[in-house]
Amino acid sequence: MKRSRRKVKKICLRCEREFLSDGKFNRICGSCREINANIVASNSEVRFGVSHDSAHTD
Ligand SMILES: [Zn+2]
Repeated sequence: MKRSRRKVKKICLRCEREFLSDGKFNRICGSCREINANIVASNSEVRFGVSHDSAHTD
């Protein structure tokens, strides 16, 4: 009856919603991780419109 891998309810650091974490260091929900991955994949051009007052280019 002992599972080695158990999911724990945690609060996502990004969207502050409850999600099932499958690891100790997982503090971000699945959808936010996807967003993170997208940002990393296209970090040269981020078009989310989250912070549009810092629209300066390097
Ligand atoms: Zn989230």
